Amino acid sequence: MNQFQYLRPTKQQAAIEALARTPNAQFIAGGTNLLDLMKRGVLEPPRLIDINRLPLGKIERDNGRLRIGALALNGAVAEDKQVLERQPLLAQALNAGASAQLRNMATVGGNMLQRTRCSYFYDTAMPCNKREPGSGCGALEGYNRMHAIFGFSDKCIAVHPSDMSVALVALDATVLISGPKGDRRLPFADLHRLPGDTPQKDTNLEPGELITAVEIPDGPFTKNVHYLKVRERASYAFALVSVAAALSLDGNTIKDARLAMGGVAHKPWRLAEAEKSLIGKPATEATFRQAADIAMQGAKAFKHNSYKLRMAPNSIIQALKNAASVA
Ligand code: SF4
Repeated sequence: MNQFQYLRPTKQQAAIEALARTPNAQFIAGGTNLLDLMKRGVLEPPRLIDINRLPLGKIERDNGRLRIGALALNGAVAEDKQVLERQPLLAQALNAGASAQLRNMATVGGNMLQRTRCSYFYDTAMPCNKREPGSGCGALEGYNRMHAIFGFSDKCIAVHPSDMSVALVALDATVLISGPKGDRRLPFADLHRLPGDTPQKDTNLEPGELITAVEIPDGPFTKNVHYLKVRERASYAFALVSVAAALSLDGNTIKDARLAMGGVAHKPWRLAEAEKSLIGKPATEATFRQAADIAMQGAKAFKHNSYKLRMAPNSIIQALKNAASVA
């Protein structure tokens, strides 16, 4: 691991200024991903700014929105009474992620900013455009079993690993950001980006910006929700495919719907057209199958991940069935 300077500011502005002063400096909170990256030599930040002393850990409801501070721990959010009552889909997605030990260290801000788990990204002996722009993509012609079926480019086919983020994109969340130019709000759907020609950029954050909170508007999705995660073992594995499904039902008729997938793209993958196809229809397998067909339009597999072309629609159908059947 490289040598680095370590700062522990108590004021938000001091943290932002400390980041801006040093190129490639990093904020650290739970450190559950960043420390792995540093130990493997993937990242070598000259300065770490520990933000754990900033007052950003609250979970509160205000003006029809649930605001979750960026330093709230994943485990605490998943067990919070307001989250369970108002946004059970988020609680399910959080509990599907990592292990209990990691959920008690990892923060909400860190969860959404975690890096891809593409094995070529972590192996500094291999080419990777995300780690070293212009070096090539080891996964493109390599072992790409875990990789994307939507939104990839010829520069990068990695997927975003967060479960929490799949629920947040489905729930129309907003990210609150503070930076050298002041405060701003960003729709969660615009936080993460597709790789294009610059896969080294995971997000649309500007240099020096700090995520301070995420807000989720109150909605009708308090009961018929399901987060389905398909993975290779029952605990502590990243999704092969995941689905966040939320329905608002009037009897057996779908009044409103939210649908997003994880494990399939460089960002949490919202399925807006499939959602529209559900509205006004009966909550039946035929309706869900039609939505899954729409969701899969444009999907394309690589040598080792063609199984996702069947796993993804089957997961959508199953997640919607599970959501509809909550009594
Ligand atoms: Fe790197 Fe992306 Fe290629 Fe993986 S898929 S090797 S992260 S460029």
